[in-house]
Amino acid sequence: MLFENAIVGPIHSRRLGSSLGVNLLPLKHKYCSYDCIYCECGWNRESEQGVLEYATPGELSELLERRLRQLVEQGIGVDSFTFAGNGEPTLYPDFPAAVDMVISLRDRYFPQAVTTVLTNATQLVRPEIFDAVMKLDNPVLKLDAGTSAMRCLINRPSMPGDGRPQGCSWDELLDRLRAFGNHGIVQTLLFDGTSDGQVVSNILPDEFGAYVELLKSIRPKYVMLYSLDRATPEKSLRKLSVDELEVHADVIRREGIEVKVYG
Ligand code: SF4
Repeated sequence: MLFENAIVGPIHSRRLGSSLGVNLLPLKHKYCSYDCIYCECGWNRESEQGVLEYATPGELSELLERRLRQLVEQGIGVDSFTFAGNGEPTLYPDFPAAVDMVISLRDRYFPQAVTTVLTNATQLVRPEIFDAVMKLDNPVLKLDAGTSAMRCLINRPSMPGDGRPQGCSWDELLDRLRAFGNHGIVQTLLFDGTSDGQVVSNILPDEFGAYVELLKSIRPKYVMLYSLDRATPEKSLRKLSVDELEVHADVIRREGIEVKVYG
């Protein structure tokens, strides 16, 4: 499912309440430094053609302000201004300016709302992106694995020279997540399954144990555990029940880290 508008909603979100989406990336086109086997936008290769055209921060500001005026007139509330959409929002060429623009409009129209980004965290190695994400109330940072090998199987990160937007190494990712510390919210999609005949699962005991050790070193504000919600490009993945999520959440909670479960 690809977003066809720059401003989406507000829609009701399991995690964020009434969420007004800001999709910074080209419409009808996925653009990401990962290619997760569960990605709701589909595989990158199905989408990587054509010229990438972005709206400018000024154009986005006009679109967003027009929508906000409508919402105020209609008496519709917003709980979260959420950067999300067709891929990785921090790959937008002027992400810091977009953050400042959204914070400014939030302050003017819905000052009680929070600002949120759903990010795979691979661009946090760029200081200007780290600083911009730090300004947001809810930086939701993806961590799906306990080991570099499982990250490769689940998130399928881009490699130097493969023509995809570049991300960062496993060690760099962990370093940046630790630097975020308790301002960051770690989000993890738990599942198990297979891909190309290989087991791909972040709930294998060793894998989950390594992941919990990483959380202990990151000490995030809290952890969001969630399960598959929509169709995935890899078909042989199993959605965990809420009970299974809660069993895993309790392991993390025993380390003194708050967990919220979204089944
Ligand atoms: S990081 Fe998000 S947008 Fe990118 S491939 Fe993974 S799920 Fe899709």
